[in-house]
Amino acid sequence: MIVIIKNSTPADEITRISQELRDTWGVTVEKSIGKHKIILGLVGETATIDPLQIQNSSSWIEQVLRVERPFKRVSREFRHGEASEVVVPTPNGTVYIGEQHPVVLVAGPCSVENEEMIVETAKRVKAAGAKFLRGGAYKPRSSPYAFQGHGESALDLLAAAREATGLGIITELMDAADLPALSRVADVIQIGARNMQNFSLLKKVGAQDKPVLLKRGMSATIDEWLMAAEYLLAAGNSNVILCERGIRTFDSKYVRNTLDLSVIPVLRNLTHLPIMIDPSHGTGKSEYVAPMAIAALAAGADSLMIEVHPNPAKALSDGPQSLTPERFDRVVQEMSVLGKVIGRWSISEKATLVTSGQSVGSRV
Ligand code: PEP
Ligand code: MN
Repeated sequence: MIVIIKNSTPADEITRISQELRDTWGVTVEKSIGKHKIILGLVGETATIDPLQIQNSSSWIEQVLRVERPFKRVSREFRHGEASEVVVPTPNGTVYIGEQHPVVLVAGPCSVENEEMIVETAKRVKAAGAKFLRGGAYKPRSSPYAFQGHGESALDLLAAAREATGLGIITELMDAADLPALSRVADVIQIGARNMQNFSLLKKVGAQDKPVLLKRGMSATIDEWLMAAEYLLAAGNSNVILCERGIRTFDSKYVRNTLDLSVIPVLRNLTHLPIMIDPSHGTGKSEYVAPMAIAALAAGADSLMIEVHPNPAKALSDGPQSLTPERFDRVVQEMSVLGKVIGRWSISEKATLVTSGQSVGSRV
């Protein structure tokens, strides 16, 4: 249930109303200050509450509405239709991710392999216009014999890349025990597809302050995904970005996953949280990354995550879906054409100069 407070309401009156709601109904009250409204979200046993009774309790209350969805805090209604933004301080400045902002690019290798490659990739993706470097230190691999990531030492390499470029760092947490070490370098903590419903991990990540990137489980419905996000918000962290990375369907002959781009408009209706699309894991093939990245932009994605590796043929994980830095340059330039048309582009031309000498469009 949400209580919409009139814009002109004095702050101490809002505090008083919140306290009264807590005392009278035994609910948790969460205040959100949007661009146009102040909203008090009530969480708890709200089914028996009579909205009219609350409405009549103060002349500062504009409206009282029920949130009908099973997920409350992540629902669009919880903010009375207003989108939220995730604000991430990085050495290069504050990055805003959300519906009202230019699209944010996240790029980097699947795994952090060595210092030279991660620093070099960071410099290249930064020059192309990325705001975040991605790279795994702890890798969730299907085979226990496959490269598992360099672990804590890779976090130091990410720190070196952050230092060298000022880019924000996004890296995956698999085990809550690694949270303190990972938090020292990560600006955004990634929860991967395989851990989307690891509820104990979600509770722990929800109880700390770093923004969280929650990838969609490979067979998760949209409701399951949003309920997983609800765990993070319920634990106290509302800085959550949802990332679609492809789902399992009956046909995986030509692509690794089915990238569900229809989630973009669907999520827009259901949730206020920012939406990221990962066409690299979504398709599993480098040649399909550009068209799906552009399609995601057209459909309204707030951010894109793209795997970039200096030498994909030699990558220790996900080489077939990784772009070279040159190819990433070209994809960014292709995206810029549409990005400008839809008014969501803030990357300067300088940053998207084609460095390979190949013409735009000759991607394959
Ligand atoms: C990744 O980002 O490298 C990764 C493992 O992603 P996902 O959890 O989507 O498979
Ligand atoms: Mn990967």
